[in-house]
Amino acid sequence: MANITCGEKPSVDTHLMILQRTMKTRLKKLLMEEWQRRWYDGEKGRFTFNIFPDVKTSRCLDNHYLAQGTTNHGPTPQYFRKLNMKDCHCRCGEDAEDGVFHYILRCPLLSHLRNSIRPGDSMVQLLQNKRSVLEVKTILHTFYHQQTDILELD
Ligand SMILES: [Zn+2]
Repeated sequence: MANITCGEKPSVDTHLMILQRTMKTRLKKLLMEEWQRRWYDGEKGRFTFNIFPDVKTSRCLDNHYLAQGTTNHGPTPQYFRKLNMKDCHCRCGEDAEDGVFHYILRCPLLSHLRNSIRPGDSMVQLLQNKRSVLEVKTILHTFYHQQTDILELD
C-alpha cells in the first residue's frame, strides 16, 4: 500500500521523450492515413467516393442540396427504388439513370434552369464554380418542390 501523505501526488506520468506537438502531428497523420485507407477500400459511399476520392478535414458542404448532389441521397426515383419506398420514374423518359445527376445534368424538364452546367460536367467541376453551384441548388430546389409534376408512378 502506497504511503501517500496529504499534498503529495504519486508519480504516474510517463515521459515519452517526444514533444506533445510532434505526437499530435504523428497521430493526426496516422488517423488521416487510416481514414483514407478505409474510404478507399470501403463498399459504401461509392457515389461520393467517385466525386471525392481523397479524404480531407477541410471539405465542408454547408447546403443540403449540395450534400444530396454529392451523395445521391435525395428524393429521386433511383433513391426511392433503392430504399423500396416507391416505384416511379421521371416523366421525361430520357434516362434510365434517374438519380440526382439526371436532374442536375440532363433532365430536359429542368433544362431552363441550366445556363453554365453541361451534361458532361463532373460534380467536382460544378462545385468549383459559384455560378454552377447556384444552378445546382436551384435545380434541386425546383425538382424537390415540383416532384408531383416531374415524377410519375410506375
Ligand atoms: Zn427527367
